[in-house]
Amino acid sequence: MDNLTENIPINRIKTSRISELDFDNMKFGRVFTDHIFVLDYFDGQWQNPRLQPQGELHFSPKISAIHYGQSIFEGLKAYKRIDSESIMLFRPKENARRFAESAKRMCMPPVPENIFMQAITQLVLLDKAWIPKGENQFLYIRPVLFATDDYIGIRPSDNYCFVVFACPLGEPYYKEYINVKVEKKYARACAGGTGTAKSAGNYAGALYPAKLAQEQGFDQLLWTDAKEHQYIEESGTMNVMFRIDDTLITAPIGSTVLSGITRDSVLNIARSYGITIEERYLSVNELREAAKEGRLKEVFGTGTAVGIQKIGSVTLDDKKYVIPVSDKELSFAIKLDKALKNIIAGQTNDINKWMLEL
Ligand code: PMP
Repeated sequence: MDNLTENIPINRIKTSRISELDFDNMKFGRVFTDHIFVLDYFDGQWQNPRLQPQGELHFSPKISAIHYGQSIFEGLKAYKRIDSESIMLFRPKENARRFAESAKRMCMPPVPENIFMQAITQLVLLDKAWIPKGENQFLYIRPVLFATDDYIGIRPSDNYCFVVFACPLGEPYYKEYINVKVEKKYARACAGGTGTAKSAGNYAGALYPAKLAQEQGFDQLLWTDAKEHQYIEESGTMNVMFRIDDTLITAPIGSTVLSGITRDSVLNIARSYGITIEERYLSVNELREAAKEGRLKEVFGTGTAVGIQKIGSVTLDDKKYVIPVSDKELSFAIKLDKALKNIIAGQTNDINKWMLEL
């Protein structure tokens, strides 16, 4: 297995499509690099790694990923340093670890860390011309693992496919401030469920309530616990943090909240700044009281796609609480965002060794 990814065969694209890329206008998830990495799992083993042109992979409509949702994914970023040609990944081994945990929860064979790392490294190096070089620009990498048994009985698949592809990005995912609604009818995850896995079904289940909220003018939902809808969990594809007075409160990682890598990084930086952190459930009542009393100073989401995303208003039981815009000097979100970006750009000492150079 160790040798599996040592010499990955490359089927190069005949003519690169990079001239079609408008580096000044890169939309999320629309334009993909020239190649993809593919690895199959059959006869109980990972086999046949390859790099091939971006394009179709052919599967039967019977594959179990489609019917029963044995499908997981990850998201991470590669950056080109402004002042050199160095290519850096942000905490990729954390994605490898989470991918393996998601696989375990969905009864799939985990992709070994060395294979995950090689797949990403080889794809990014092959398509490095696609990595934009500029402030807030990066290559978004999407590893995905799905069940490919051509059989419609319900049981764990025997065959799987691991694919990695990537897209260059340069625009913010959302506008500067987003408006969110506390969701008290639908649930994203429940205790004992699959909320901590990055499994496809979690996202499918969230689409309908998110669509209803969007029709009401909201950008995202703040999910609450499935049982009582009293405790805030997370938001869309972000973990969420509340600053009440000078304390930063965020839901603990349990069986309903995804273990965000940005969340962990932001908490780590916040701790180093001496900010008081409480990893506990914030109740909707406490949120409402803090907002009414003017003690709710900031709300923001954290996630790979968004980085740190400021939340401008929270609507709770049809009452909209506008979060006052923080003074630039005093804002936790701005301070933490700057610190994180400086580490990524190599402008601060990366004491935690989060950046991996390829
Ligand atoms: N929660 C959910 C449900 C997500 O999909 C994501 C995105 N991976 C996050 C939180 C944030 O996690 P990360 O910081 O690792 O991107």
